[in-house]
Amino acid sequence: MRHITVALAGNPNAGKTTIFNALTGLRQHVGNYPGVTVETKEGFVERGGVRFRIVDLPGTYSLSANSPEEVVARDFLVTEKPDMIVQVVDASNMERNLYLAVQIMELGLPLTIALNMSDVAKARGVEYDLDTMESLLRIPVVQTVGSKRLGMDALLDAVAARAGEPAPEYPKVGYPKELEKPIAEIDAALSGKDRELADRYPPKWLASRLFENDPDAAPRIGDGELAGKIRDLRLAFEREHGDLPEVRAAEAKYGWIAGLCAESVHMTPEAGSDASDRVDSVALHPLFGLPIFLVLMYLMFQMVFTLAEKPMEWIEAGFGALGAFVSAAWPGGGGESPLRDLVVDGVIGGVGGVLTFLPNIVLLFFAIAFLEGTGYMARAAFIMDRMMHKIGLHGKSFIPMLLGFGCTVPAIMSARTLENRRDRLTTILVLPFISCGARLPIYILIVPAFFPERLHAWMVWLIYVIGIVFAVAGAKLLRATAFRGDSVPFVMELPPYRMPAFRSVVNLMWDRAGEYVKKAGTVILFVSILLWAMTAYPKKPGFDAAAPSAPMEIDHGRERENLEYSVSGRIGKFLEPAFKPLGFDWRVVTAIIGSFAAKEVFVAQMGIVYSVGEADEESDTLRDKLRQHYTPLQAFCMMLYCLLSMPCVVTIAVTRREAGGWGYALAMMIGLTLIAYAATFVVFQAGTLLGIGV
Ligand code: GDP
Ligand code: MG
Repeated sequence: MRHITVALAGNPNAGKTTIFNALTGLRQHVGNYPGVTVETKEGFVERGGVRFRIVDLPGTYSLSANSPEEVVARDFLVTEKPDMIVQVVDASNMERNLYLAVQIMELGLPLTIALNMSDVAKARGVEYDLDTMESLLRIPVVQTVGSKRLGMDALLDAVAARAGEPAPEYPKVGYPKELEKPIAEIDAALSGKDRELADRYPPKWLASRLFENDPDAAPRIGDGELAGKIRDLRLAFEREHGDLPEVRAAEAKYGWIAGLCAESVHMTPEAGSDASDRVDSVALHPLFGLPIFLVLMYLMFQMVFTLAEKPMEWIEAGFGALGAFVSAAWPGGGGESPLRDLVVDGVIGGVGGVLTFLPNIVLLFFAIAFLEGTGYMARAAFIMDRMMHKIGLHGKSFIPMLLGFGCTVPAIMSARTLENRRDRLTTILVLPFISCGARLPIYILIVPAFFPERLHAWMVWLIYVIGIVFAVAGAKLLRATAFRGDSVPFVMELPPYRMPAFRSVVNLMWDRAGEYVKKAGTVILFVSILLWAMTAYPKKPGFDAAAPSAPMEIDHGRERENLEYSVSGRIGKFLEPAFKPLGFDWRVVTAIIGSFAAKEVFVAQMGIVYSVGEADEESDTLRDKLRQHYTPLQAFCMMLYCLLSMPCVVTIAVTRREAGGWGYALAMMIGLTLIAYAATFVVFQAGTLLGIGV
């Protein structure tokens, strides 16, 4: 006869004893766990040629070793390795009960859930979507009413069907990102002796228990160097995040459970009632959720615009003054000096032009980090998830997309968390539509030059929303064609709302802004110099235009001829006919080519073209010059094209690596360029026909 050992786990009062009695009848005996006065009960039941040995574990809320019961339960599970754990869950109090389930899953142990008290829950108007719950948890869920012995046979059958098999690969009920690094550090520092202990647990489990100051784990490693290191790490964590690691870890689990329940449990309004639930009933509202997200996004851009205005003017004036100062102080007076032009037009004009937008970047990153910290961003992801589910897509993709507002490169790398290759490729390929921080300077340069002040934030908002719409539509299209197939269900975490710790918001913001500055000092510096040289050389040997009559007069015609004679000018002129239908002249074309190195270079190159070519109008800002040369429609088309077209080289390189081949990278480059071309063409032609913004 087949023998199966089943451990019954559950919170106190979930109905464990009732189910134990219902299953085993009178065939049971009561004892005590060795050394502690925690009651043990064991009983037997036979069904379908299987003999089940049922062990009633002490009732616990968690496996965190805060009480003798929890230590007994945990030790039994880890050392005895029962064939199956059945957790009796009080269905009328799911979120709290599932915390234990999540901890059992974290240990990688085989689990079945008995959704008990389902009669009470139903009477309260709670409805379950059992299929969704099973597929999200990846474990069987059986409804039971212990007091009426309902569901007992189904429970035994579910256990028999899975017992003895290795536990399924559970969803990652993740540690929050901020816990990963210290836990990895502790794990690496575990010595040989501690290792033996660690070997009984899943990887990093002991390290995480230690970092969370588990009362059972901590004494096992003694009070040596490691204990000191852990204390330091905990202190550093608390200083940065304003919370203890165990609090954050518990919140992440509850956040996951909240997401699970939001997907699979439908409550009547009176059911969920703490403050967070009440906020969520608005923030996650099926109708208002999305508009609220869009309004918050708009407010964010409004804030960025308003607050960045002054600092941006100061930086702009600072670089202007620096350029003028360097020009004046340059040895040899006002004569020809290629090196001076390189420094003033190329380096100061290019890099300075990009750094001018630092206040915008810093503020945008601050706002995003703040919203992430409050827990709202997870709700935004949840709303998008729900929306994407509706159109048959995987909502988990939205997390990389959120990162994509910062930079596409880490966003593409984070798509690794998508287990399904089709989901991953789809996400990677549409990620460049999400407007990254490097594209913000382009909008911030263009929008105020062409649109009235009351429209500024709206225009930027519009561009971002267009990006999101293209990303979602693109994903839908890919999933319907090249990457057709089912997606893996997954739970979107809903962490509690809170006031984020100032320090962690600022750290996150500086991390991201630092990347921007670093890029300005490296890639953009290099590309600016290269583009400057291409724009300044070769010099035209003879001119069609007459030399200026007075020596002091500045040479308009010759400057322009020189520019058109340069490498940039020639490439731009060569490609100009292809871009004419989009409303672009050759200068814009060279800026677009430059933006392949990094999107900000678009701004740098426009600055270079107009400072090299228009040396006469020093006092005009770049915005003034743009206004003189282009219509608002053309300006909008530039933004649209920059948003949608071929991403920067780094993105292409990362795509090749993450997607596993040049094929995808090339498809992305060509596909996005065609889409950008088509969309911009339509907008420019339609706008011209209708006379909008001309
Ligand atoms: P334990 O602490 O987990 O062992 O919980 P018990 O088995 O002692 O059950 C607590 C109370 O819940 C008892 O009064 C049971 O009769 C009652 N109970 C158990 N299961 C159910 C159920 O499915 N529905 C209802 N309505 N009551 C139940
Ligand atoms: Mg009991």
